[in-house]
Amino acid sequence: MQIGVLAVQGDFSKHQDMLRQMGIESQLVRTPAVLSKCDGLIIPGGESTTLTTVMQKHGLWQPLQEFGRRKVIFGTCAGLIIMANEVPGHPHATLDLIDITVERNAYGRQVDSFIDKVKLELSGASSVVEGVFIRAPKIKACGTSVRILGYHRQDIVAAENEHILVCTFHPELTGDERLHRYFLHKVSRHIHD
Ligand code: GLN
Repeated sequence: MQIGVLAVQGDFSKHQDMLRQMGIESQLVRTPAVLSKCDGLIIPGGESTTLTTVMQKHGLWQPLQEFGRRKVIFGTCAGLIIMANEVPGHPHATLDLIDITVERNAYGRQVDSFIDKVKLELSGASSVVEGVFIRAPKIKACGTSVRILGYHRQDIVAAENEHILVCTFHPELTGDERLHRYFLHKVSRHIHD
């Protein structure tokens, strides 16, 4: 199983460290050729506008959209934003891979970064983990194809559809492997389908 981490902008190296801690050596993806060898991909947090511009410059936009329709992508924070189908006020098109409406920088300036408890429900197992929120977006609405996987207070912070897994916080910064493990299971299920 070949896992890629999109490495054009943002905190991709933390995801790679996390996967390494779990015994998985991943590929840093900067070209369509490397992407095409991957079975699953992580799109890290960063700055969604910059991420979009750089992806387009590297010729990765179309290949990523096609990848996400057939294979599994895990998007965290900015990675979630660029895969959402609706981001009101966002100056760029999105990859439109998951039916969620997202508000960027939704916690405002005063509390733009914080750590708080998040409730996850993964494969029938409930857990409470630390969520690191950095200028995080909020998922304001989900379509019927989307399953909710996590909440912070009343807000949806993790969700998935058939191919796409997203969360609004940074699981790669806490050492808690649950979401990454869930992603790896999702990838391996799709390989064997
Ligand atoms: N606020 C950033 C954006 O809108 C996302 C922040 C993050 O990825 N930590 O793209």
